[in-house]
Amino acid sequence: MKILVLNAGSSSIKYQLILLPEKTIIAQGLVERIGEKEGVIHYETDSVEFEEKVFIGDHKKGLERVATLLLDSKIGVIHEADEINAVGHRVVHGGHKLVSTTLITDEVKGIIRTLFNLAPLHNPPNLIGIEVAEKVFPKASQVAVFDTAFHQSIPEVAHRYAIPNEFYEKEHIRVYGFHGTSHQFVSKKALVLLNNPKARIISIHLGNGCSMTAIREGKSVDHSLGFGPVNGLIMGTRSGDVDPSVIFYMEQNLGYSSEEVSTIFQKRSGMLGLTGSNDLRDIERAALSGDRMAQLALEMNVYRIKKFIGSFAAILNGIDAIVFTAGIGENSVLIRQMVCQDLTFLGLDLDLEKNQKQIKGTRFIESNSSKVKILVIPTNEELEIAEQTYTLLKTKV
Ligand code: AMP
Repeated sequence: MKILVLNAGSSSIKYQLILLPEKTIIAQGLVERIGEKEGVIHYETDSVEFEEKVFIGDHKKGLERVATLLLDSKIGVIHEADEINAVGHRVVHGGHKLVSTTLITDEVKGIIRTLFNLAPLHNPPNLIGIEVAEKVFPKASQVAVFDTAFHQSIPEVAHRYAIPNEFYEKEHIRVYGFHGTSHQFVSKKALVLLNNPKARIISIHLGNGCSMTAIREGKSVDHSLGFGPVNGLIMGTRSGDVDPSVIFYMEQNLGYSSEEVSTIFQKRSGMLGLTGSNDLRDIERAALSGDRMAQLALEMNVYRIKKFIGSFAAILNGIDAIVFTAGIGENSVLIRQMVCQDLTFLGLDLDLEKNQKQIKGTRFIESNSSKVKILVIPTNEELEIAEQTYTLLKTKV
């Protein structure tokens, strides 16, 4: 089955064409700066790397250009659009109604639309991606895979907030959790590598967005993000946990509107708010050259991760493994070292040499005497989406 995976953002579309069950990537790339003066289209196969700078008016134009490249007589990989059996879409928020991977119908699209205000940066472009793919690949099955789905297993004791019941019952205000496709992908892989389906795992996704999940027997049982993608860990531009009183104070005493406060917490906070950059590589360089705020920001970031490790270890009654993933988790030697330092009470002991090796790919980095395994597993949300799409369609045939 040839499955095209789409991750549509507000001005971009990431795509991968994957052959299942072989898991072979046939083509992949990115359409960027949709609607801007000059857009960029990247396209890559085993034998070709292609980039084009051209005006891309809207998502439809972008996806149509991708289809043309896939079909191109010289650099293409398919002969006709109908060869694509299915399109798997990343959809960030499924709310309380869309709780697992599903075939897209008008009703499903309607529900995704009702969730726009819960994920304003993600669900609207996700839906555009779906509507455009339906037009460009009309014969393909369209499937939605939700970031929130993996966290549906978080029990009530952890997914409810202690606010009046009506907000839960009528408005469905609860922990939904995010980055679920990534946490699911790396934890599944970890369980196989650990050869223990019951392993208690903490997966730590550190990218521009950051989150941690407590996993018992392959299921998410707690998570650092909640109703929206702002709380928990300190992220690139998002604050992570802040006492809600700060919001009341900003609005009631400092005169900010709720929209302004939302922008401050989501776009101007986190590592950016502390250091002026949201790119961890810049911050690490600045810290090494003695910049005090960069050093403090790294310490605050790591301190928060450690607090979550401690609390998740408590709710799991111990841990068998921690997994680092995403841009920072996979690449930052320094952050992994700082996180693992002084956690010996948990039986966690990092091998500094293994940690420092600049290897791409899955690896164990704990010392021989460590009681807890420490893994680095590159995330692959696209492959997870393709696999879930494949599994759903196979069971429907
Ligand atoms: P992601 O959202 O998963 O693409 O991750 C983006 C983050 O990963 C950015 O903060 C980058 O600075 C960070 N990152 C990427 N490569 C490295 C690296 N070699 N060392 C430290 N941070 C990195």
